[in-house]
Amino acid sequence: MLKAQGTVLEIDLKALKHNVEFLKSRLQPHTKFLAVVKAFAYGSDSIEIAKTLEELQVDYFAVAYVSEGIVLREAGITTPILVLHPVPEYFETMIAHCLEPSLYSHRVLEAFIAVAEDKKQTHYPVHLKFNTGLNRLGFSQIDCPKILSTLENKSAIKVTSLFSHLAASEDLNEKQFTIQQIETFKTMIAEMASGLGYTPMLHQCNTSGILNYPQAHFDMVRSGIGMYGFGNDPKFNPFLKPIATLKTTISQIHTLEKGDSLGYNRALIATKTLQTATLPIGHADGITRAYGNKKGYVIINKQKAYIVGNVCMDMIMVDVTEIDCNEGDEAIVFGPHHTAEHFSETIGSISYEILTAISQRVKRVFKR
Ligand SMILES: *Cc1c(COP(=O)(O)O)cnc(C)c1O
Repeated sequence: MLKAQGTVLEIDLKALKHNVEFLKSRLQPHTKFLAVVKAFAYGSDSIEIAKTLEELQVDYFAVAYVSEGIVLREAGITTPILVLHPVPEYFETMIAHCLEPSLYSHRVLEAFIAVAEDKKQTHYPVHLKFNTGLNRLGFSQIDCPKILSTLENKSAIKVTSLFSHLAASEDLNEKQFTIQQIETFKTMIAEMASGLGYTPMLHQCNTSGILNYPQAHFDMVRSGIGMYGFGNDPKFNPFLKPIATLKTTISQIHTLEKGDSLGYNRALIATKTLQTATLPIGHADGITRAYGNKKGYVIINKQKAYIVGNVCMDMIMVDVTEIDCNEGDEAIVFGPHHTAEHFSETIGSISYEILTAISQRVKRVFKR
């Protein structure tokens, strides 16, 4: 492969395939696999990722917003797409693009039925979201009778699935709470199924749910972070491969003498002779200011180079005093070894946040 020039996010599609196969190996054969590709497939590239996943025959996709679903449809993706957080303003557009809504309140349910009827739909697939303890989006059990009466004699829509979302599936200290969420979901399902006269598809697990709560896989699971290589628990690291490597190259090396300052606001004053390397990546690329002043580090020639001074919009400076390196050498911000999880931990954050923060300015390249 050509030596990277400037900053690139390298996406390993073979690693993606490996991760999906590992996650699927934890499921019963009948359990469907929904691939969560919201937020540019967790900061990678939603189109390339969705195309690869479609080849792997995932059963469903999910995105957060309608606009993300439209991008996939325009790229030729034909697999069903669940939109987790649609707003009524876009219901008509959703129907035009065959995007399936998560309906989480009486307000959105009634609004969607009205649009589906207006557009002369029959049995348009919709998904009802239930709140079992996350308290973010979703109907409560007390809403069931009213949902059922709203749905009565309505042929414009068809309830394709009932689902819920776990609040702490990665935290085994919260096992009791998670088990309670699973039980609450089952009671809601029972009430809905008896009222509807059939049982729609059921799903509750995200990645950590898949790994930690096999009893809650139901008919389908929804995986995001696991496909991208993180299991939220070191014990799963041997089985998952981070798919994204954020790398850049040294633009210039400076020597600072004792008393010299570095960067904006002179955040670092050299107390001895220092060598710093300037890298073409900054907060506009997703490296938030919190990583500056020796919190985060990158890897240059297998050694840790701490980010020194304040993070600039387009650049960071790293301390290479003890590292044998040259202009043009590669610097790894995160990758399979110095992972996004490690990197983000240096500022008390999580893999999800740094991955999705990598801005669209960073060129994506694919390893197939
Ligand atoms: C984002 C999201 C997921 C994926 O969660 P991971 O922890 O990344 O696997 C699943 N379900 C819902 C409702 C989500 O919002």
